[in-house]
Amino acid sequence: MFEHIQAAPADPILGLNDAFRNETNPNKINLGVGVFKDENGATPILKAVKQAEERLVANEKTKSYLSIEGTEAYRAAVQTLLLGADHEIIAKQRAHTAQTPGGTGALRVAAEFIKKHMPDATVWVSNPTWANHQSIFQSVGLEVGSYAYYDAASKSLDFEAMLASLSQVPAGDVVLFHGCCHNPTGIDPTTSQWQQLAKLCSKQGFLPLFDFAYQGFGVGLDEDAQGLRTFLQQVPEMLIANSFSKNFGLYNERVGAITAVCETAEQAEAVFSQVKRCIRTNYSNPPAHGAAVVTEVLTDPQLRSLWEMELQAMRTRIHEMRGLFVATLRAKGVEQDFSFISQQQGMFSFSGLTPEHVAQLKQEYGIYIVGSGRINVAGMTKDNMEPLCDAIAAVLKG
Ligand code: PMP
Repeated sequence: MFEHIQAAPADPILGLNDAFRNETNPNKINLGVGVFKDENGATPILKAVKQAEERLVANEKTKSYLSIEGTEAYRAAVQTLLLGADHEIIAKQRAHTAQTPGGTGALRVAAEFIKKHMPDATVWVSNPTWANHQSIFQSVGLEVGSYAYYDAASKSLDFEAMLASLSQVPAGDVVLFHGCCHNPTGIDPTTSQWQQLAKLCSKQGFLPLFDFAYQGFGVGLDEDAQGLRTFLQQVPEMLIANSFSKNFGLYNERVGAITAVCETAEQAEAVFSQVKRCIRTNYSNPPAHGAAVVTEVLTDPQLRSLWEMELQAMRTRIHEMRGLFVATLRAKGVEQDFSFISQQQGMFSFSGLTPEHVAQLKQEYGIYIVGSGRINVAGMTKDNMEPLCDAIAAVLKG
């Protein structure tokens, strides 16, 4: 039965982690997979999360199933975080949210919903984008196209080309935007660019799907939601897939949500009933723990302010590493200009290192970077900065 099955290629990002684990170089550095690391290179459990967990363990009374969409308290807390406390969409019940296993789970539910109810839609993703996007939509049988985003020469957003691409997208198709901290480039549209994109979306009539995996990693919780909130001033419908893997450090608890914003409360009810059907035949209902932690933290003022402080500390550390990386490379006499790295947002930067540089860094120095040249800035520490920049300087000299 299985004789004809060939081995699948290693996942371009998670496969790198497996290889890193087997790396014997004692000075190895992992700038591959996107997890936050502190100044000791550890991925700690946030204090706010630990405290919430202690309360939950003490008070938990049942392990019975959650409903298909997860708990009421979680769904409300997510909407408030995404849209802002007094948003009229919440008041008018134009949005419904379901808890999902991570941001990937949310995207998969969105993909199944789109395939079932908009089967001829093409999903447009930025070029480049997170490696899993294309596979998620293709795996349900949807067509995936790409729109212009990054200009490799200037290492910035090619906004004119982006507008030109999206002007070709017909009504009824779906366009995926990264809410903030674009993965892999670290480059986001500005406020006025978001406004222009929203206007174009309204004119063209495509459905925006926001992938929001890094809220709070860019500038701040509200600032990072600016893109999707700007859109919602101009367009009546949207899908939002958000994740708490990064901003709560809850990677392995798998906690995220899919939110459908509709023109009316009635439409929202109907759409949501179909979203729930997609979930029922997929994983039936979500795991409880991670979402319970997020709910506890978001709704308790003391835990909330502790979390916001911890989130700010993560954000600040990444900004500092960006600056130190640029300064250290310069101090090592690297001639290429890397200053663009300190202007980018979130965990990732597109370094401009070629696949050959990436291969050499791995083979000769035990430094692991995704093949595209995407580096996880959070993997840098004050301790590994010198050897890292020495190695990069060496490979750049050729
Ligand atoms: N979207 C983007 C852009 C991401 O970078 C990630 C995580 N790497 C996800 C979605 C998925 O997040 P999760 O781990 O919560 O499934």
